[in-house]
Amino acid sequence: MYAFASSSSQAPPADQPDVLIIGAGVSGLAAARHLALKGRKVRVLEARERIGGRVNTVPFGQGVAELGASFIHGTYGNPVLPVAREIGIPIKFLSERHGTVRDHTGVHLPPQMEELIANNAHETIFAHLRDSAQHGPSVPSPTLALADPLFAPTSRLWDHIPESNKLARFQVAAAARTSSGWTGADLDQVSYRWWGFERDTQGPDAAVVGGYGRVPGFCADVVKERGGEIRLGEEVMGVNVEGGEVTVTTRSTSTGQTSTHTAPYCLVTLPLGVLKSLSPSFFSPPLPARRIASISRLSHGLLNKVHVLYPTAWWAADHTAETCLLLPDPSDPGGLLGSPDKPQAIFGLNMWAVQGIPGFCFFLGGSGGKNLEQLSEEEVAKWARETVGRYFCPGAEPPVPERVVRTSWASDPYAKGSYCYIPPFRPSEAGAEETAAPSPLDMTELSRPLFGRLFWAGEHTEMDEFASVHGAWASGVREGEKIEIVLANRGGEGLEE
Ligand SMILES: Cc1cc2nc3c(=O)[nH]c(=O)nc-3n(C[C@H](O)[C@H](O)[C@H](O)COP(=O)(O)OP(=O)(O)OC[C@H]3O[C@@H](n4cnc5c(N)ncnc54)[C@H](O)[C@@H]3O)c2cc1C
Repeated sequence: MYAFASSSSQAPPADQPDVLIIGAGVSGLAAARHLALKGRKVRVLEARERIGGRVNTVPFGQGVAELGASFIHGTYGNPVLPVAREIGIPIKFLSERHGTVRDHTGVHLPPQMEELIANNAHETIFAHLRDSAQHGPSVPSPTLALADPLFAPTSRLWDHIPESNKLARFQVAAAARTSSGWTGADLDQVSYRWWGFERDTQGPDAAVVGGYGRVPGFCADVVKERGGEIRLGEEVMGVNVEGGEVTVTTRSTSTGQTSTHTAPYCLVTLPLGVLKSLSPSFFSPPLPARRIASISRLSHGLLNKVHVLYPTAWWAADHTAETCLLLPDPSDPGGLLGSPDKPQAIFGLNMWAVQGIPGFCFFLGGSGGKNLEQLSEEEVAKWARETVGRYFCPGAEPPVPERVVRTSWASDPYAKGSYCYIPPFRPSEAGAEETAAPSPLDMTELSRPLFGRLFWAGEHTEMDEFASVHGAWASGVREGEKIEIVLANRGGEGLEE
């Protein structure tokens, strides 16, 4: 049970909201909708000139491109699925076990080899290693990274691929490293002990056709219809809990003017990457040591995307699969932008097959995503054109894209990365005993209310569903419910500082 602070006995000013919500991403808007539906006055303060946060749907040709989230991951039990259905957003289940696997010459691997490369990589990481970490004969050391058992000589990654087949071994390792698109970090940065610990949603993934942005948009409409406010271009500069209320200071990103906003309660949905970058004086009173330690122990990863649009889907007749895995060239191991010593394949979506847009979307996680952000726009356009040409029309002049859009989530000041993950314990860095190792408890710590008035949501506060839209949604509803109970009992007994 938490002890919450009751509000001041004096009547608040008429325009004072019941709750300030920092951030108009999915978590903030899910909470705002929940509270608005209960008749509460909410004011959402958002630094960007748009809502959605890490859900960002932009016009792209005749359709849309998702610069942030695009899938409903694990549709069984996923709370976003009923929301999408309520709004009437078409969703498309991805039926393929894996898409086509192409080597660096553009050759679609023969079925047996394709199966071996794709399955060994996928099954080892997402089935076998999850199982061995959670149900193996011993609890893995917290210092182990996912890459340790994955690339060990006995790993199932190498099943049926003899050491003598150097090309296939190179390819399967590169295919495995593509999982950094899921983990958000290179596999030597991700904890093995906690791999698969979460009770996440199950079942097939689905693509949200026509725009994930409609989910936050739907929440924002409800909030506004119910008299709530969503103030864009208001960057929060500080949060002060004092005298029975919370005062949030903002700076207008267009005029630079500062304002203050006061309410009895406040929900903070700043991404983990942003929390990590704040000065100690951002919160007053300062965050407790336990909270600061959890923020620093967890990591914020990176996934970037490159969208490539053509005037027509010239590949449609020959390439019908929805997804593809493009394997790097052994003579140019960094070519698909992973580090040369850790060559990475890339995962791609054939947007024509998924939703009738004449384009591709490539996903680059971990160091691939970091390297992508270092390139100029011209270099990205060249890379995209050559990559599509090499893998989808080898030997011919690569068609010129109409548009290339890449994301830069690490350098985005209001995200500072893509989503959180649990790193292995590095004793030399933390200088502490094993109990200080990163764990899912850090996410629980990040969800706990502070000072009786500050509530916390965001994907990084959901230990079972972190790094996802549904985790963000669940956290917003979770905190919205909590705040509603506190508001309903305002002034009642049992509430204390
Ligand atoms: C490239 C990419 C692909 C992804 N793909 C998927 C996917 O397919 N499926 C899936 O389920 N998940 C996916 N995710 C993860 C998912 O998008 C996030 O987990 C989720 O959207 C996070 O929501 P949130 O509300 O926790 O945070 P956010 O959406 O980041 O919301 C936080 C808000 O706070 C605002 N903010 C930051 N600083 C300030 C400040 N100082 N003052 C005021 N406002 C501030 C931000 O602008 C933002 O709007 C993806 C993420 C990325 C980056």
